[in-house]
Amino acid sequence: MRTGMTTHNAPDELLLAYATGWLNEPLSLMVESHAAYSEDSRARLRDLEAIGGVLLEELEPAPLTTTNLESLLERLDEEPEPEAGPSAAPAPARDGFELPPPLRRYVGQDVGALAWKPLMRGVAEAEFAAGDGGRARLLRIEAGVAVPRHSHRGHEYTLVLSGAYRDDGAVFAPGDLQLADPAVDHRPQAIGGTPCLCLVVTDAPLRLTGTVGRLLDPFLKNRL
Ligand code: ZN
Repeated sequence: MRTGMTTHNAPDELLLAYATGWLNEPLSLMVESHAAYSEDSRARLRDLEAIGGVLLEELEPAPLTTTNLESLLERLDEEPEPEAGPSAAPAPARDGFELPPPLRRYVGQDVGALAWKPLMRGVAEAEFAAGDGGRARLLRIEAGVAVPRHSHRGHEYTLVLSGAYRDDGAVFAPGDLQLADPAVDHRPQAIGGTPCLCLVVTDAPLRLTGTVGRLLDPFLKNRL
């Protein structure tokens, strides 16, 4: 794993920010959508939400010390974990995609009906939510197509929904979450013979870094 990039599963910092209500709407949707695929992330979220809830309800205003954190964690281990509800698993819809229910509530039953904009040959996006500095969009990359090489002005969170892509030797499949920041310069490519559909949340525009990209960057930075 390279500096600035986290792959495949949600990091604790992101889950903790969600559990404590610090995330903006697009990033909250990202966490909820990823968690629909990942039992591991759901289990960690339950722990973090429980810790947050207990801290707020019972420990305030006592400072959190090593001792009471340990007793808190022991108590959490004793509590039965709630079963994941039927809404936890991605479900098929009219458009044939199995999308996580939290995402489906935003994009409706047919993602083909969204306002898709072509970004380049074989790559299209449909933005459907924005707020508090974050943007949420679906990205569709046709089989075999690579998106332009780029870096990032802020953070980019990509969740694979259908198909797969390869980035710097790593393969990302449905449910996998990739984080990229200004230290990452990459060129993800759809693989596997089917289009790759992703949920992408960014908190700042991308920065194109390829030869052509550098020329286009001033013109495209408000679009990507
Ligand atoms: Zn990127």
